[in-house]
Amino acid sequence: MLSPSSSEAVIRRLYQITQDYERGFEHQITELIRMGLTRFKLDIGILSHVVGELYTVDYCVVPDGIELKKGDEFDFKSTYCAITCKAKGPVAIENMGQDDRYASHPAYQAFGLESYIGIPIRFDGQVYGTLNFSSAIPYTRQFEEIDIDALQLMASWIEVELIRRKQEQQLEALNQKLKFQAYYDSLTNIPNRRGMFKHMMKELNRASRNQSQGSLSLVDIDFFKRVNDTYGHSVGDQVLQQVAQTISEALREYDYVARLGGEEFVLWFPDTNEADNLEVCRRIMASIKRIERLPEPLTVSIGSCQLDCKNCNKIDAADTLADLLEKADKALYQAKADGRNRLVRYEDIIDVKKEG
Ligand code: GH3
Ligand code: MG
Ligand code: MG
Repeated sequence: MLSPSSSEAVIRRLYQITQDYERGFEHQITELIRMGLTRFKLDIGILSHVVGELYTVDYCVVPDGIELKKGDEFDFKSTYCAITCKAKGPVAIENMGQDDRYASHPAYQAFGLESYIGIPIRFDGQVYGTLNFSSAIPYTRQFEEIDIDALQLMASWIEVELIRRKQEQQLEALNQKLKFQAYYDSLTNIPNRRGMFKHMMKELNRASRNQSQGSLSLVDIDFFKRVNDTYGHSVGDQVLQQVAQTISEALREYDYVARLGGEEFVLWFPDTNEADNLEVCRRIMASIKRIERLPEPLTVSIGSCQLDCKNCNKIDAADTLADLLEKADKALYQAKADGRNRLVRYEDIIDVKKEG
């Protein structure tokens, strides 16, 4: 059987630890430090991070009775890490107090650690910190080349892992950005048509399950082409941003707005009846009129329709959405035809037709 401190055991254990990535970096690094402690027969193991004059404990394994934990900070100059970073390579000292070079070092004065083996960790072309192992008890044997080899092996893995984690974070951030770009409108920062579709599928299925009702409204800016023609496209863009923001602020917390395209917005009001829809839409129209970007007040037309899932069977969400959008669009068309700056409900058009 292999002694746990033999080189072969170190390599085997390192392999096991590095394969164990599913348990996370913290677990891996802690196991790696434990392995180092066994290998070097020391009792304090630290991965440190150095920024300027600040030394921070990233991860550590210490014996009972020693109060050192992740996040603890020290003055860099007063740590053995400073010696290691200056050496730009592995440093191994068996008996600090007896060492002419280090007996007067502030780190020895401050911590009184007798034996130490450490190596700088590099990341992005700079020193990240150190991997170091130490003990208050002097080392009873000499550190050997094989110890340095083991230390270097551990440091290489940490360096590769730090880079891999950074790349993983960059990829994740990029992924989030792409997701955002796919579902959000870059001009107004509210959901786009695709985002609306995804959201509405969930909402309509929920409404069907709960047998609840809701209102859908289309808001279209009046004479927006004139805004572009008179004040330029860039002012038009600013108006679109302000309208999106104004609508968002006027909505209740659980309501939803997306930019359907151009100067048209779609609004969904869950668990809302006709009267409440009317009230919120009136508030939106009034708020938009108060936008002061142009010399003349801005107005919008709104077409609304109602979904009522009371006593209805399970609906097809995509078909229902298409139906609601079509009805709201008809109502919006009517509002434009009636002179703009008004709200028309789809139900009311039907009534008008019935009367006629
Ligand atoms: P109506 O009252 O009938 O709605 O008239 P309108 O001028 O608002 O409608 P129309 O559909 O004729 O014109 C919409 C304009 O919106 C035309 C288009 O150039 C402009 N538009 C669409 N998307 C953008 C955009 O992202 N930025 C800017 N500045 N203008 C846009
Ligand atoms: Mg318009
Ligand atoms: Mg339009």
